[in-house]
Amino acid sequence: MLTGTNVLMLGGDARALEIIHKLSELDASVTLAGFDGLHTHLSSAVHAEYGEQLFEQADVVVLPAVGTDDDGKITAVFSNDELKLQDGHVAKLPKHSTIYTGMAKPYLRQLCDNYGIRLVELLERDDVAIYNSIPTAEGAVMLAIQNTDITIHGAECIVLGLGRTGFTLARTLQGLGASVKAGVRSEADFARAHEMGFRPFYTTDLLPQMSNPDLIFNTIPTMIVTAQMIANLPSRAVIIDLASKPGGTDFRFAERRGIKAILAPGLPGIVAPRTAGRIMADCLSRLIQDDLQLRGDGR
Ligand code: NAP
Repeated sequence: MLTGTNVLMLGGDARALEIIHKLSELDASVTLAGFDGLHTHLSSAVHAEYGEQLFEQADVVVLPAVGTDDDGKITAVFSNDELKLQDGHVAKLPKHSTIYTGMAKPYLRQLCDNYGIRLVELLERDDVAIYNSIPTAEGAVMLAIQNTDITIHGAECIVLGLGRTGFTLARTLQGLGASVKAGVRSEADFARAHEMGFRPFYTTDLLPQMSNPDLIFNTIPTMIVTAQMIANLPSRAVIIDLASKPGGTDFRFAERRGIKAILAPGLPGIVAPRTAGRIMADCLSRLIQDDLQLRGDGR
């Protein structure tokens, strides 16, 4: 249980609602800023005006999936107020407090460093990334269906990168009857891809693979689908780039060549916000409870 733990929730989208429910269920005292436009009843959570005073009592601060932008602005889809995380706020936090977010930009990391406040990035964790790969793969399939005039069954698909997202996606496409090639760089991934029934190739040999795909899904967060690769593609091919911004595709050249190329960030929050919220909520509540135990609060 989280009885006596003060949680400050700042902004966010529909995913935050799952977190609020979960933490309230565990009896945490939840204070909300950036939810004033939301008319749903939120268990026992209390709405408050954003300001330094909110930080003084917080044991835990929860920020949205992308903690802040490069200037400290916190996205709050349920509010018209501007929420900005600044020195004065973090300076007020008790030293034992922790800030949780999905992923942090350098601004937030620096702020936490400056004041010795622990920062936890949930999307960096393997468990969260693997659970999140399920809605991500479903979102990628949705985009593939929306942007092609063929079935995925029988389609020639290339998945670039067999990490936490690529693996789930390749398996999902295979399950739908696609012919799946997997671009990898390690021998272990090559062997695993072979064992899974994908047709593996090394990303250093990407060029010859580009002559026949219907769909290319990229999960490699570096420029990989270059102009040279795109020049080799058939005109029917569609590129769906899942890697974090700016993706791994030369979008300018794709447009010039008339190849459809889509950068698709944040799919879990778009296609399945409730599931994505639950994934974050389960992990977050476990981590806060573990932390309490480690600190010996015995709450
Ligand atoms: P991951 O587990 O680290 O997988 C990344 C894969 O890319 C690994 O297989 C890695 O190979 C490979 N890779 C990295 N650099 C490479 C290079 N230069 N050449 C060849 N292969 C390379 O990451 P993930 O969790 O799957 O996430 C992948 C990307 O998708 C990230 O940018 C993440 O932010 C993004 N993402 C997007 C969404 C969305 O909704 N669009 C959702 C979740 C994640 P090694 O194992 O050999 O390093």
